[in-house]
Amino acid sequence: MSNIESCEEEMTYDELAISYYDLIAKNSELTQRVEEQVKEIAQLQDERFDNLAHISELNDELSKLNSQLGHMKEQTGMMIVDSMFKHLKEHHTNKKSNSWVCDHCKGKGHIRPYCFKLHGEVKQF
Ligand SMILES: [Zn+2]
Repeated sequence: MSNIESCEEEMTYDELAISYYDLIAKNSELTQRVEEQVKEIAQLQDERFDNLAHISELNDELSKLNSQLGHMKEQTGMMIVDSMFKHLKEHHTNKKSNSWVCDHCKGKGHIRPYCFKLHGEVKQF
């Protein structure tokens, strides 16, 4: 009876010792893991800092490109306005040279809505 009890106690002690060392091992393992994670976090923060620096560099580049694009847009807008002016000038020149031909009386210098012969006919009716 006492033999069994002592045996059980020994086993319990062994078990306790094993679980104790197991806990110590686990604890040190966890501590190591936590340390590793802390290192990883520090590394990630460094990377994040690098990334932030890179992002600010990219932002600088982006603002440069945007200003270039704005300049290009200005130039394009000026080109469009320039071509519009040319177009208007050509129209104006055509108007001056009286290239209008009436499709009612085939007379030059006016078009059908302004044809005096057509209006004259309308008046006669
Ligand atoms: Zn006419």
